Amino acid sequence: MSDCIFCKIVDGDIPSKKVYEDDSVLAFYDAHPKADTHILVIPKQHIVNLYDVQAHQWPLVQQVLQSVQRIAEQENLVGYRLISNNGAQGGQEVFHMHWHILAGDKLPGFQ
Ligand code: 5GP
Ligand code: ZN
Repeated sequence: MSDCIFCKIVDGDIPSKKVYEDDSVLAFYDAHPKADTHILVIPKQHIVNLYDVQAHQWPLVQQVLQSVQRIAEQENLVGYRLISNNGAQGGQEVFHMHWHILAGDKLPGFQ
């Protein structure tokens, strides 16, 4: 999607601080961190959110979640919160699927 910020990050048109990358998945630090560690994990393919997942794309969503497991190990996170905002009413501002990994003291959201 040409007007999608996260597609531009995937294409390298907008710089990001990468944490993890493979053929299907990219993870990078959030530009406005809401926790000590705030990482965004996205499929490289443009999927809007969980409402938008087509049947053939579920294996890709699985790969994204498997990457979360890898990143938690790679970054030595002793615990983390995983959040995905779906739709504007769910707090989604960037309409390319992403999963927030939040770690550290005083995490925002549920307690
Ligand atoms: P949402 O509210 O859609 O769940 O979260 C979008 C997240 O993307 C926000 O936490 C915001 O800080 C982050 N973000 C927005 N634009 C950029 C950007 O250009 N680079 C990076 N690294 N993060 C961004
Ligand atoms: Zn996109």
